[in-house]
Amino acid sequence: MQNEEIKIKAEDLWQRTKSICIATTQSDDERNKITRYLSFVTRVKLEDSVFKILTNTKFTAEQLDKEYSEKINECFRLAGADSDLKLEFGVDEEYTPTYIQPTVTEQPKEVNNYNLKSKNTYFTSTQQMDESNTFENFVRGPSNSFARDAAEGVVKNPGKKGYNPLFIHGGTGLGKTHLMQAIGHEIKRRDPSQAVCFLSAEEFLNKYVESLQNGQIQSFRERYRSIDVLLLDDVQFFQRGKEVLEEFFNTFNALQRAQKQIVMTSDVAPKDLPAIEARLISRFEGGLVQEIESPSYETRLAILKKKAENMNAKLPDTALEFIAQNVKSHVRAMEGALSKINIFHISNPSIILGNDILSRLLDKIIENEKNLKLLSIEEIQRTVAEKYCVSITQILSSERTQSLVTPRQLAMYIARKITTKSLQEIAEAFGKKHATILHGVKTIRERLENESDLKRTLEEIITKFGYKMSDILES
Ligand code: ADP
Ligand code: MG
Repeated sequence: MQNEEIKIKAEDLWQRTKSICIATTQSDDERNKITRYLSFVTRVKLEDSVFKILTNTKFTAEQLDKEYSEKINECFRLAGADSDLKLEFGVDEEYTPTYIQPTVTEQPKEVNNYNLKSKNTYFTSTQQMDESNTFENFVRGPSNSFARDAAEGVVKNPGKKGYNPLFIHGGTGLGKTHLMQAIGHEIKRRDPSQAVCFLSAEEFLNKYVESLQNGQIQSFRERYRSIDVLLLDDVQFFQRGKEVLEEFFNTFNALQRAQKQIVMTSDVAPKDLPAIEARLISRFEGGLVQEIESPSYETRLAILKKKAENMNAKLPDTALEFIAQNVKSHVRAMEGALSKINIFHISNPSIILGNDILSRLLDKIIENEKNLKLLSIEEIQRTVAEKYCVSITQILSSERTQSLVTPRQLAMYIARKITTKSLQEIAEAFGKKHATILHGVKTIRERLENESDLKRTLEEIITKFGYKMSDILES
């Protein structure tokens, strides 16, 4: 074979191996971890009977080898690699970094080391961006076209009035993070000197607390005020009264004054962010606010086609149509279904993917979808009330004794986690304000970290609805 042909073959094999590795990893946490590790791979090389997987640093090569060589090897065979091909991990000597990812220990301690006048690409990113979250891979449809246009507008006019900040909101798994990262990639592609920083609001908070503890608040400030594009994911995470909000407000002002672009995502509209003060909300609304809604059948099908193409999955259209018809809640669930069918198809290429076999393969996902649709908030309230031996009226009351607050908040938490109801609908069903629901959800989330009794009760209740803890804790 010609060199070029070998190269294409190797890359093709690697793409498939990667897809299978990710698709066959069950828990979200593990999947995020392996996706992150795989993203360190910069190049693959096929030489004689050795398949070399090259990464950005020696450290990541060793980590990949240590933690994932078995898994990668298995998926490599599933992807169609010959059994005499041997896998090897190493450093890519030709690699020149575009995004530098400093780990905490590598960060310079001295504030004075920063040269704030120069473009500080050193701090480009604190969290890894998914390389496939690009505009090309984002399928346009009526449910997201406004948000997408706004995102493209930002790329053309970063930091300009009318585009700053951009605030994207919508339900889980509908593409907010994807679109936000697409902005980051595209700005960076057009001008590599731009310091683009992507991180979640949670990470921002953690970094803030960390810097307070280490006495490095000054360097924290300078760091976030010296970037060109701040991509802040899931700002609903910020809670009222926290000092971090004050800090964020100041960062926000400093960036906006310097005409630096800010993009935020949230699962609710700015006005429904309970924790955030009016002065900040009006600043958020001063730019562009766009919502992403649930995709229609046609958009779902187009997204599936795109995903299948990217995964190099050769599946019949009827299989994709089956998924688009049966998996409607969010794009992430559709991806799960697609991977599952693809893996099955790779391992059993001769089996025809008829509707019967597709239903069997996706029975769990389809059942979840049905539950999502059918499960009413009233049913959750009733089940929780029974469990705690209180009445629904008490759950809906405003009485603040702990014996009522816990079941009330737990019911809010479950409603938020496993139904597709909007915050508005949940608030109405409980006769409460949005803020109260979000506060309840947060309280339970925090309590679940330490209280095993509460966790057990939650598990009992959701098992009745056909869910596992992993279905809700990871999302
Ligand atoms: P969110 O941040 O809104 O919860 P994500 O951006 O993480 O959702 O999207 C979930 C998954 O769905 C991602 O893998 C993303 O690539 C995919 N996705 C969502 N919308 C689209 C779209 N319009 N086109 C292609 N992929 C999409
Ligand atoms: Mg997201």
